[in-house]
Amino acid sequence: MAERVENIQYGWSKAESRHAAGRVVKRALERGHIKRPKRCPICKAVPGVDAQGNPKIQAVHLNGYSYEHRLDFKWMCVSCRSKAVWARKRLA
Ligand SMILES: [Zn+2]
Repeated sequence: MAERVENIQYGWSKAESRHAAGRVVKRALERGHIKRPKRCPICKAVPGVDAQGNPKIQAVHLNGYSYEHRLDFKWMCVSCRSKAVWARKRLA
């Protein structure tokens, strides 16, 4: 069992880790531990939701999706997110 837990935690692909990080954020939201802002803290826009009803303010994990960073994210709108991701790629 312990081995299996380790595999789950450390054998994940990037996409799986990303989904896991997303689930952690979703659960924290549902439990009321964190709150999704209506307004982007960076550009102050109120972007609302997209065509699928997904909020355009997203939890962006700028330090990766490893276990200890799952709740290490910043709220930002999709346009700030693309700028932040672009800037990070440029620095890397
Ligand atoms: Zn923004």
